[in-house]
Amino acid sequence: MSNLLSIADLSRKEIERFLDRAESFAEVSGREIKKVPTLRGRRVLNLFYEASTRTRSSFELAAKTLSAEVINFAASGSSVEKGESLKDTVQTMSAYDPAAIVIRHPHAGAAALVAGWTSAAVINAGDGKREHPTQALLDVYTLRRRLGALDGAKIWIVGDVMHSRVARSNIIAFQAMGAEVTVCGPPTLIPRGVEALGCSVAYSLDGVSDADVIYSLRMQNERMTESYIPSLREYARCFQIDGRRLTPRQILMHPGPVNRGVELSAEVIDSPQAVITEQVKAGVVVRMAVLYELLAGSGPSAITPDPSQPSVASERQPA
Ligand code: ASP
Repeated sequence: MSNLLSIADLSRKEIERFLDRAESFAEVSGREIKKVPTLRGRRVLNLFYEASTRTRSSFELAAKTLSAEVINFAASGSSVEKGESLKDTVQTMSAYDPAAIVIRHPHAGAAALVAGWTSAAVINAGDGKREHPTQALLDVYTLRRRLGALDGAKIWIVGDVMHSRVARSNIIAFQAMGAEVTVCGPPTLIPRGVEALGCSVAYSLDGVSDADVIYSLRMQNERMTESYIPSLREYARCFQIDGRRLTPRQILMHPGPVNRGVELSAEVIDSPQAVITEQVKAGVVVRMAVLYELLAGSGPSAITPDPSQPSVASERQPA
């Protein structure tokens, strides 16, 4: 595999390979000195055309933990503001010979376009409302750690499914791992024909007590061109996950950023059922795994074991 553009490109076995690799990196993350020489001398370019807190910082940490050199590029403050196109920007930054380009862009399909302009491995860090494959991998990783396996788990994805790339990638990934997915929200925020992805649809939270996992989504206001709900207060009344709706046996997930008091009440964010911080932690090891699987072995500085530490080198499979 040379790029990670869509979760739909991965079989269950390939997803599991990323997760197993991430498990092996969890040990590195637990060390006091969080560094292995795996990608020493390789360059990773983070190209972000949209806001990001977790994805950008965890890709940066993942690359640095693997000893890569990281170039962080944010569109705001760059020559993009002077009219430079995506293609010209990619070609310019490619002069630095990055081994990987991590791209987030507001347009669906942007990562695939970039893959056509560079010989670097391209990782989709979110393209408009289409896909966010590394989010899906870290969510499956978090759930697998909690549940052992996702087979038969009932997962409800609640909120603005229409504008959410996380929803799309997660519907595909959760089902590939054997879970049953229901998407839930007001009809205006559920894309028509979403059942074609294999999930069920609910327009109210009436059946949510059946869910083993509730995956809550933010209103993606930045992608809305009109008003989809009567008011936030009305939306929260019908779809907010709060202490009355979340039962003690359920797991609560959210990709962040949370709009407190809208899709989640403050009490559930801080409840023991919430694994939101675990998801953020998983982001680092899963993105290390993605960089490793795409890059290690494909260049001059393949993994060199740290003799003082148990190393992942011995587990290396062909990348
Ligand atoms: N951080 C996620 C994304 O970039 C979810 C969100 O923004 O609501 O898609």
